[in-house]
Formats: sequence, structure tokens, C-alpha cells
Amino acid sequence: MSEPGRPSSNPKHSGHAFATRAVHAGWDPFAERTGAVMPPIYMTSTYVQDSPAQPRHGYEYSRTQNPTRFALQDALADLEGGAAAFTCGSGMAAVHTLMLMLKPGDRIVATRDLYGGSHRLFSKIEQRFGLIYEYRDTSAPGAFDALPEDTRLVYLETPSNPTLGVTSIAAAAEAAHRVGAELAVDNTFATPALQRPIEHGADYVLHSTTKYIGGHSDVVGGALVVKEAARGEEFWFHQNSAGTINSPFDAFLTLRGLRTLALRMERHCASAAALADFLEGHPGVDRVLYPGLASFPGHQAARAQMSAFGGMISFVLPGGLAQATELVRRCQIFALAESLGGVESLIELPAPMTHASVPAEQRRAIGIEDGLVRLSVGIEDADDLRRDLEQALRSSR
Ligand SMILES: *Cc1c(COP(=O)(O)O)cnc(C)c1O
Repeated sequence: MSEPGRPSSNPKHSGHAFATRAVHAGWDPFAERTGAVMPPIYMTSTYVQDSPAQPRHGYEYSRTQNPTRFALQDALADLEGGAAAFTCGSGMAAVHTLMLMLKPGDRIVATRDLYGGSHRLFSKIEQRFGLIYEYRDTSAPGAFDALPEDTRLVYLETPSNPTLGVTSIAAAAEAAHRVGAELAVDNTFATPALQRPIEHGADYVLHSTTKYIGGHSDVVGGALVVKEAARGEEFWFHQNSAGTINSPFDAFLTLRGLRTLALRMERHCASAAALADFLEGHPGVDRVLYPGLASFPGHQAARAQMSAFGGMISFVLPGGLAQATELVRRCQIFALAESLGGVESLIELPAPMTHASVPAEQRRAIGIEDGLVRLSVGIEDADDLRRDLEQALRSSR
């Protein structure tokens, strides 16, 4: 939230296109003492006061206010079209900070194939505090029919992880608001470069900035963007009270990554589209899940709310876990690792890795087969990436 003496938001660029704002939002060099084009990393825990309770520039303590964090927060609020943003030590800390607004007995209707860590937080921790979680295939027709009256929050991931299911944000917002609930969208996979949930009616947007926003696999972080300024006050209080902030250094690194988001996403999307086509035409692949494929069930819904289809692809191998394991072993550019959204291409198997915390039976029910492979397509040469998969598929048959 705005604080006195903050040289951060950059109104000069408010009318500009996304790619311009990605480079300039959150920091105005002309308003800064030295004209620095990037914010200094304010590694300070506290600030001097002129007299008791009279901080000189409105800054008291770095959990509460830090100019480097504010620059990142303001940039994210601008790019998502929200009133305010709060950055956290991790994506999970941002999700947790959002849940702090709820109270026992409140119902959360959530996408069923959530990020594994979000599922764990909800089922193993938040539920102990009396929150009621109900999981649905939010991408299915009629998914929001008959939302119970005690629903307080609808919580979406779209595209979802790892099956890339697409949920209509506008339909979810309408259904949530009809019963007096709010809508939160985890926008980690799409980023505001491709999809801005607030424009479609969402009240909150979440990010693991560890992924595309940071973009270089060198910093863990999260963000919560709020549509309404009044809600912003509430979350500022929660972030400060619970201490879910990120460090000034991490805020700096994340902002540095954010500056090239528009450019990186273009390459991620173009290369992923080419690889999805290649995989779909490959006789050794059973099924390809990518929102950009005309054959994908969520394709039309994706077109309605995304400007391009992202850098994540999942596909199913007929030989199950054994064949998938062999494939990931043979890849030479795609590195076997969890996480996503960095400049380097990654490959992983959701069943034994990112989604191992989801019970096996439930995994199968939500489409996470043992032969499911997930790619995070990086910004390397697209032909090199295709050849890498080609040779790995050839020898894993
Ligand atoms: C990684 C991820 C998270 C959790 O973020 P961390 O930064 O790892 O805490 C939440 N949601 C999605 C979709 C993610 O990919």
C-alpha cells in the first residue's frame, strides 16, 4: 500500500502496453534521489525516527515497509491490474497469507488438480483450523452449479498443474459472486503476460514468482495481488502480522527477472507450441495436453482468456512409469527437476515427483497417470529441444 515518500510506482507508463510496463512498472528513476534505473537493495531492518513514532520518511521496520519490496509489489499490482500486491517468501507463503482472511466453517471450492504443495497446505494444515475444502474439476461444464451457501472462496488454477485443464475465470467469478464468495486464481502457469484474471472478474491473483516471473531459477518467492484497495489494507495487515514477506535481495532478483517477462514468454509459448505439435504427431505418444492444441478440450476456453498458451506441456506415454523414467534419463537438454518457468528446459514425472503428496488413487482419478510426463519448455533453440525429445523417445520405446 502506498506509503509517504515512496519513489516507486511509475505513473508515466500507466497507459502503455504490457511489454513496456513490464520493463518500467513499480519504479520511477526520476523520483529517486540518484536516478538509479533499478531500485537499490535496501538491506536494512529498521529506519531512524525524528522523534518517538515519527519515522522520517514513513518507514519504521522492514517487515512492515521496505522500498525494494515495494517496487516489486507495485510492479506486480500494475501488471495484473490490481489495487495492490504483497510479495512473500514463497508461493506457498502467498497462498497461506490469502487463507488468513478465512475463519472456521468457511468453505473453499478448489480446482481438484492443484499444485501438490497447495493441496498439502489445505489438507494437512488449513483444514485443522476448521476450513472446509471441496475439490471439483473446475474445467468441466457445470462445474460451479450449486455452490453451497457457505462458500467463501473459489480457488482456481488455470491452466492447472499438471493436466493443464482450463477453467473459465469469468464463469467462476460469476458463480462465486452469486453466493457472496470471492474468486482467487493461481496465475503461476500463465503469468500476467498471457492472462490477467482480474480483468475476467477475479478478486485475487496468486503467484509463485519462483517460476516464470523470476524466470531464472535463482530465487523462491510468491505474490498475492488484490483487486480492491480495501482488501489491500487487510492483506497488508496480514502480511505484516504473519511476517510472510520476502527479503529485499529476493525482491530485487525477482524484479530483475520480471523486466524480461514479456520477451521470455514469447519464446516459451512459441517453442512449446512447436513441441506440442511435434509430440501430437509422434506415434510413440498416447496423448498431449497443451491448451494451444485445437484437439485439447480446454482450447476454446483458453482462447477466451489467454493471449497465448504458455510454456508447459504434459503428455502420456503408453509404457507407464517405466517408459517415462527411461525417457527422462535419456534427455540431454531437458533436465530432470521439479519446478518450472525458468530459462532452462525441465522435465519431470508428476506421479512420483511433484504430485507424490497426492494419494495414488486420487492421482489417477484426476488424470495424473503414471506415464504422465511434464515439460517446462525453456528458451533454448526450439529445434535443439525437439531433437532432444526425438532421440529420447526413439530409444525409450
Ligand atoms: C510452485 C507453485 C506454487 C508454490 O510456490 P513456491 O514458490 O514453490 O512456494 C504454487 N502454485 C503453483 C501453480 C506452482 O507451480
